[in-house]
Amino acid sequence: TTKQAYTPLNEQTVIELSQELDLFSDYSSLEVNEIGDGNLNLVFRLVEPATKKSVIIKQALPYAKVVGESWPLTLDRARIESDSLKKFAEFSPEHVPEILYTNNELAVTVMEDLSSHVILRKGLIDGVTYPSLAQHIGTFIAKNLFYTSDFYLHPFEKKRLVQQFTNPELCKITEDLVFTDPFYDIETNDYPAELQDAVSELWNDATLRNKATRLKLKFLTHAEALLHGDLHSGSIFVTEESTKIIDSEFAYYGPQGFDIAHFFANIAMNHIAQRAHIKDKEKRAEYQLYLSGLIRDTWNTFTDTYKGLWRNEGVELATKLPGFEDEVLESIFTDMVGFAGCEVIRRTIGLAHVADLDSIADFDEQILLKKKALKLGRDWVKNKQRIKNIEEFITSIRSV
Ligand code: ADP
Ligand code: MG
Ligand code: MG
Ligand code: MG
Repeated sequence: TTKQAYTPLNEQTVIELSQELDLFSDYSSLEVNEIGDGNLNLVFRLVEPATKKSVIIKQALPYAKVVGESWPLTLDRARIESDSLKKFAEFSPEHVPEILYTNNELAVTVMEDLSSHVILRKGLIDGVTYPSLAQHIGTFIAKNLFYTSDFYLHPFEKKRLVQQFTNPELCKITEDLVFTDPFYDIETNDYPAELQDAVSELWNDATLRNKATRLKLKFLTHAEALLHGDLHSGSIFVTEESTKIIDSEFAYYGPQGFDIAHFFANIAMNHIAQRAHIKDKEKRAEYQLYLSGLIRDTWNTFTDTYKGLWRNEGVELATKLPGFEDEVLESIFTDMVGFAGCEVIRRTIGLAHVADLDSIADFDEQILLKKKALKLGRDWVKNKQRIKNIEEFITSIRSV
C-alpha cells in the first residue's frame, strides 16, 4: 500500500491512512485523538463510534519531541520497535500488543488499542495492586533473555539478530542520559536548586563515577540478549489479570540484567514516593509490602523460569557446565543492582523524571524523598557486589 515519502501524520492524514489500510467501515464518523504523553513520538487513537472498533497508530518523528527539532533522531526506531515487539510475541504473545501493520518508510506502527489497560506508573501512584504482574514480568524477561541468547540460538541466527537490532542512536541516548550526564555538570540535567548540595556530593564521588563508567562499558559491549531497553513502569500496561509491554524503540542486544533493573528501579522509586502519596501509615506500610513482594516475586519467577529454560532447552555447551546457570544468574543480579542505581539517579536529577516523585505536591517532602532516592541509587552503583541476594536488595529499599 502506502509508498509515499515520510511526512508526519496529522488528524486528517491518519484517517486517510486508516482508510488505505481498510481498518474501519465508516470513516466520516471516526474519532481521532493524539494521546502521546511520551517524549519522542506521535500516538493517535482512532475510534469508530458505531462499532466501538479502535486502533492505535504510533509514528516516530525525525526528532525528539521533548527537546524539539534541534535534536534529530533516527526514524529507524519505529522499525526497531515493531520488529522487537514481534520478536517478543514469539515467546510471550499474551504480553505485547498485536501489531496490525508497519511501514518503515513512514515510521508507522498500527497496533491493538490497549485503552482497557492503565499505564503501570499511574496504577502504582494510585496505590493499586496487580496480582499477576510479578509472574508476567518475570516470565516475559526470562523468555526474552534466554530465547535470544547464545545459550539457545544457533550462533548464525544470534548474530543475525544482533545486526537486525543494531540501534546506535537510541543506545547513545541511554549512554548519555543514564550512564554519563547525571554524573557530570552537564546542562541536560534537571533538578531543583534545593538538591544542589546532594548533587555536588554525587559529582565529587570518584568511586561512584568509576563504577558508573564501568556499567556504561557493559552496556556498550555486552551483546548478550535482546533487551526491551526502556522497561520502566510507563512502558507497561496493566489490568488485574493482564500485562502488556509497549514502547520498545530502545531495543538492542545488551547485558541481561538491564531490563529487570529498570523495572525494579521504577518500583523502588514508587516505594520511596509512597511516603507522600499514602498518608495513612498502616495503608502505606501495607502497600510498600506489596511493592517489596512484587520485586521478590518477579525475581523468583524470573530465576525459576530462566533455570527451567536453561535445563530443558539449553543448546550451547555452556549450558552443560554443572552449576554454571547459578553463576550466570549471580552476575545478572549484580549487574541488575548497578543498572538500577543508574536509573534511579538519572530519573531524579537527569533530563527525564518520573511522575512518582515529581508529582509530590509538598515541595519539602519531594526534596527529602529525592535525596533518599539519590542515596539509594548511589549505594546500588557503588556497593552492588555487597548486595548478595534479592532479600538484601529489598532491605536496601525499605531502609533508605
Ligand atoms: P513514547 O515512545 O513516545 O513514549 P509510547 O509508546 O510510550 O510512546 O506511548 C505513549 C502513550 O500513548 C502511552 O503512555 C499510552 O498512554 C499511549 N499508548 C501507546 N500505545 C498504546 C496502545 N497500544 N494502546 C493504548 N494507548 C497507547
Ligand atoms: Mg513511552
Ligand atoms: Mg509514555
Ligand atoms: Mg518510547
